[in-house]
Amino acid sequence: MKAIQFAEPKQLRVIDVPEPSAPGPGDAVVRVHRVGVCGTDYSGYLGKMPFFSYPRIPGHELGVEVAAVGPGVSNVKPGDRAAVEPYINCQACYSCTRGHTNCCENHQTLGVHCDGGLRPLFTIPARKLHVSAKLTFEQLALVETLGIGLHAVNRANPKPDETVLVIGAGPIGLSVIEFAKLAGSRVIVMDLNEGRLAFARDRMGVRETILAKGFDEDVKAFTDLTGGKLGNVVVDATGSAKSMSSAYHFVGFAGRLVWVGITQDQLAFTQPLMHRREMTFLASRNAVAPEFTRIVRLIEGGMLDTRPWVTHAAPFDAVPDEFPKWLKPETGVVKAMVEVG
Ligand SMILES: [Zn+2]
Ligand SMILES: [Zn+2]
Repeated sequence: MKAIQFAEPKQLRVIDVPEPSAPGPGDAVVRVHRVGVCGTDYSGYLGKMPFFSYPRIPGHELGVEVAAVGPGVSNVKPGDRAAVEPYINCQACYSCTRGHTNCCENHQTLGVHCDGGLRPLFTIPARKLHVSAKLTFEQLALVETLGIGLHAVNRANPKPDETVLVIGAGPIGLSVIEFAKLAGSRVIVMDLNEGRLAFARDRMGVRETILAKGFDEDVKAFTDLTGGKLGNVVVDATGSAKSMSSAYHFVGFAGRLVWVGITQDQLAFTQPLMHRREMTFLASRNAVAPEFTRIVRLIEGGMLDTRPWVTHAAPFDAVPDEFPKWLKPETGVVKAMVEVG
């Protein structure tokens, strides 16, 4: 069967791989139907993702159907549709035993540290499958992306009477917005790109946006909009070291700052402002199983509308031609979806 592989940075090729053998204890073989493509895949293709190794079959946002299950598997059966939690954890390290499966000390993300889902069939621990009889394969493939936003919001736990500032309205920022809205908080979104802000307003129902122009103007705009209170929660979803270093200026007294992006550069800030306002700084990595379950239930119940998300789609065979186009900002990709079968 055919798979898509990054042989090395900027080299995408179609390869032949063997079909998986019958699943072992605790495992399932899944048939891949939809694969979402995200910034991690683009960075992996470009050689800019620190954790990526090559050669690698990408694909970690997956809508799959269970094809076969191994001995001892009871949570899924052949024919079930499922979202995939692509964070393979060891279940034995200190972090795993404390329930922090998202940051296992031996963590492997499918399609990043080990081969992912841009192939018709593969084997995965059955415990990583989140079944829904109601969701489409496309919706199932969106659950992981949404999980990044839900986990980031859960880190700061905003209340209905609080203000959340989301810096960066790319796909991660948009997934943060979904759950900040569901928390009932006032949501304000800042970005350098007016097109992205327009998407947040028109498609995601965000009422208040700030077009970023420069540090002083941006702080003034946010101060004015909040009557000087600033943010109870600020989520930086830019992945830019410059933005991540200055984001704490938007955090008000007793506020929380969440960095959901990742940068290889150093972050720098002067500490007295953090001290004076007694801020809490938080990292956010991946998501945990109950968050996958909650997202599946929210979509099933109609509380989370996935319609705005998929802006581009291509069949599996067209990926070598289409993928490089999705890298270009002018194509306006929010989420591209590969139709595998
Ligand atoms: Zn992703
Ligand atoms: Zn572990």
